[in-house]
Amino acid sequence: LDKDSAVEADEVKSQIESQQPEEFERVKGAFVVLVRNNELYAMRSSMQYLEDRFNHKYHYPWIFLNEEPFTEEFKTLTTAMTQSEVHYGLVPKEHWGYPDWINQTYAAECRQDMHVRGIVYGGSESYRHMCRFQSGFFYLHPLLDGLEYYWRVEPGVKFSCEIEYDPFRVMKERDLKYGFTMALVELADTVPSLWKATVEFAKSHPQYIYPRSRPDSLFEMVTDDRGVTYNLCHFWSNFEIASLDFMRSPGYRAYFDFLDRKGGFFYERWGDAPVHSLAASLMLRKQDVHWFYDIGYMHDYFEHCPTEPHWLTYGKCYCDPGASFDQSSGSCTNRFLEVMGKTVDDYIVTKNP
Ligand code: GDP
Ligand code: MN
Repeated sequence: LDKDSAVEADEVKSQIESQQPEEFERVKGAFVVLVRNNELYAMRSSMQYLEDRFNHKYHYPWIFLNEEPFTEEFKTLTTAMTQSEVHYGLVPKEHWGYPDWINQTYAAECRQDMHVRGIVYGGSESYRHMCRFQSGFFYLHPLLDGLEYYWRVEPGVKFSCEIEYDPFRVMKERDLKYGFTMALVELADTVPSLWKATVEFAKSHPQYIYPRSRPDSLFEMVTDDRGVTYNLCHFWSNFEIASLDFMRSPGYRAYFDFLDRKGGFFYERWGDAPVHSLAASLMLRKQDVHWFYDIGYMHDYFEHCPTEPHWLTYGKCYCDPGASFDQSSGSCTNRFLEVMGKTVDDYIVTKNP
């Protein structure tokens, strides 16, 4: 490429860009990823999916967080996957460790017990720090300062449908606080006392709780017996597009602090997904929560795949609708629709073609 044609190419590029400025305008959003160095290739795969399906049009920045410094290799090979800005941040020690009220000997006994009982990640210490970080600290990282929305991404996830609109903008324009693609039943053994703690919080902090008697209360999403027990439904937080104002709100933070004092992140294995979901269901209203039904998504062996037949024929999605988790007994998306009084159609953002 000689110098003149390079200049020409640049001019053409800026002409194209200036023709459609509004189409590519961004809101204050970013992808936020907590990830380990050894997940580099799975991370690159997630990035490729999201860039192909959506972000090559918008160039939202990527923010990577880790409690260990990222290697040069990790940085180089993730930067190479996107034209967007990339940022790499270290999780501060205070956000990844034991608070002084935790009895670490007892915590180790609990891990051992849960390990013997075969509970998933029951014996893992790092998993607990991770869940606590994702529950109460990620939104405090300085790299997220000034952002309004985050889109949580994990290594090794797949996006099986073209995303023809900007989900961040949908969040902003509809003033949404929380968006998900999958909702399912939590493993009961990981959260034996979470509901009791949550009810205790709600009773002692009524100022933060949306009255459950109101027709637009979301309370029924998480209980089938008017609050006696938790039905274990939660929005799967490995995909999450949500408002940082909500996560940083006094109500959410008071809830996290309250739970943190109880020690269940360490003595049990409270996940950030049920914590976020209980907070959303108790503090938000129906109209604040959105099911990104039209975003095909796969994490581990669980997949959400839209079932509109024409989306398969014109190539919007490649996933098998029959394999979608939504109709399984462990799914809570039907519960969500029922509580909302909505149908799948209500959650399709772009109807064309
Ligand atoms: P799962 O989805 O519940 O099976 O848990 P994952 O292993 O996928 O962990 C959830 C997220 O946290 C992923 O983005 C992981 O990359 C990240 N993660 C988990 N454990 C650690 C850790 O010890 N350090 C860092 N930096 N990231 C972690
Ligand atoms: Mn995962």
